[in-house]
Amino acid sequence: MIEIEQLSKWYGAFQVLSDCTTQIKKGEVVVVCGPSGSGKSTLIKCVNALEPFQKGRITIDGVSVTDPKVNINTLRARVGMVFQHFELFPHLSIEQNLSIAQRKVLKRSADEAHDKSLALLERVGLKAHAHKYPIQLSGGQQQRVAIARALAMDPVAMLFDEPTSALDPEMVNEVLDVMVELARDGMTMMCVTHEMGFARKVAHRVIFMDRGAIVEDCAKEEFFGNPSARSERAQQFLSKIL
Ligand code: ATP
Ligand code: MG
Repeated sequence: MIEIEQLSKWYGAFQVLSDCTTQIKKGEVVVVCGPSGSGKSTLIKCVNALEPFQKGRITIDGVSVTDPKVNINTLRARVGMVFQHFELFPHLSIEQNLSIAQRKVLKRSADEAHDKSLALLERVGLKAHAHKYPIQLSGGQQQRVAIARALAMDPVAMLFDEPTSALDPEMVNEVLDVMVELARDGMTMMCVTHEMGFARKVAHRVIFMDRGAIVEDCAKEEFFGNPSARSERAQQFLSKIL
C-alpha cells in the first residue's frame, strides 16, 4: 500500500532523512517513534507530498507521490493527515469543516457531503456540535473533528503526527479511543506518537528513528518484548518513555 524506498532528504547541507526504506501493508498500523529531531514528521510529510525529497521513491498503491501526473489534492484526500495542532478552518462551522473538501475536491453534492459529515461526526461522538465553530470546542473535540474531516475523504490510509501531544492529559484518551477504533476497523495507519499504550494495543509494527534513519522496524511483540535485541539508542529512548 505505502512503499518508501531509499528515501533521502536534505535541508541545504543538512541531511534530515537518510536512506529510509519501509512498507506499510493494507490494514497495517505502524507506530513511528524516536527522539525529537529524528525526522519523524519529515518522513510522514513526504508520504503526503507535503515535503519534497531529493532521493528515493514513495508510492501509494503503486503510484509515485511525486509523479507530475498525480493531482496533489486528490493524493492528499486519499491519504488523510492529522497534525498535532488541529488546523481546522476557524471561520467555518464543524459541519462545513468536514464538507468543504468533499465538495471542492471530490465534487460531492451539498446534500451528500452534509450527510457524510454528520455520519462521521456521530462516529466520533460530536454530532450535536455540528453547527458550532472550532473555537467553541475543547482541544480533544477539535482533534476528533480533524480526524473525522480526514475520514470524510474516504482515505485509503491515515497519517498521524503526534495527534495527542498538544492536548491536556484528560483529553488524550478520547482521541486515542477514536484512533483505536479506526485501527480495529482495518484502516491503514502510520502514526507518529509516543503513546506506547496505543502502540501496544493496536500497532502491528513499530519503527524507531534516530538522526534521520530508520534504526528499528519490527513487529510490536518484538519491539516491546525483546528489549535487549534493540539498538542502544532505542533502548535508551524506551527507558525514558516507558
Ligand atoms: P519532533 O519529535 O520534535 O517532532 P521530528 O522527529 O518530527 O521531531 P522533524 O520535524 O522531522 O523531526 O525534523 C528533523 C530535523 O530536520 C530537525 O533537526 C529539524 O530541525 C530539521 N528541520 C525540520 N524542518 C526544517 C526546515 N524547514 N528547514 C531546515 N531544517 C528543518
Ligand atoms: Mg515531529
